[in-house]
Amino acid sequence: ESREVAGKVAGVLDLFAGVCAREEAELGRIDAIAGDGDHGQGMAYGSKGAAAAARQALEDGAGARTLLVRAGEAWSESAGGTSGALWGAALIAAGAVYDDQAGAEARTVVDAVDAGIDAIQRLGGAQVGDKTMVDAAAPFREELAKAFTGANAAEAILQAAEVAREAADATAEITATLGRARVLGEKSVGTPDPGAISFSILMRELGRHLS
Ligand code: ADP
Ligand code: MG
Ligand code: MG
Repeated sequence: ESREVAGKVAGVLDLFAGVCAREEAELGRIDAIAGDGDHGQGMAYGSKGAAAAARQALEDGAGARTLLVRAGEAWSESAGGTSGALWGAALIAAGAVYDDQAGAEARTVVDAVDAGIDAIQRLGGAQVGDKTMVDAAAPFREELAKAFTGANAAEAILQAAEVAREAADATAEITATLGRARVLGEKSVGTPDPGAISFSILMRELGRHLS
């Protein structure tokens, strides 16, 4: 059963790599307006590296926990950049929720997503309103905790992903007075935060994939 769980987790990383490749140009376009334009590339490289590391770990006979740790390390290394370090840390933290030898329950994926977001918040230190992926991830996390009843992981993730998408879109209105938004300057007003957008897309696709 632990082999089956590891295979499913590797499948999610394949999914993320496919989605990031598909969204690469658009995420790059958004990042180019207020940032340095490399968010699409960072997410595409990071997720591709993570998926390859996961496939290798699976071949080596690793369980889900080890697989996610290796995938997270590969994401950070392959992506470079701020979001790469944060997504890498999120996968490693998500891995700590799994057991290499045991199976998984309905709540395991929800707990793993929650642990991943917690790592992003702790490591990045961003607050809501700073115009970062936390603006999407924090409301996602709250909605997920409310929506999850113990069995409906896919449905709860989809519901939370809708809240995350609205919150990500709303980052376009953030003016340059707070946190990272001040660094981004007035140029970023009218454009959403690319990391918040990519976060919400990946969570929507995860929800669909689990459905
Ligand atoms: P870089 O900023 O190094 O070029 P990316 O373009 O890949 O890296 O990622 C930029 C995204 O990283 C931003 O859109 C934002 O969502 C996210 N980000 C930046 N700093 C932080 C932080 N301290 N906490 C959380 N997310 C952050
Ligand atoms: Mg960038
Ligand atoms: Mg950069």
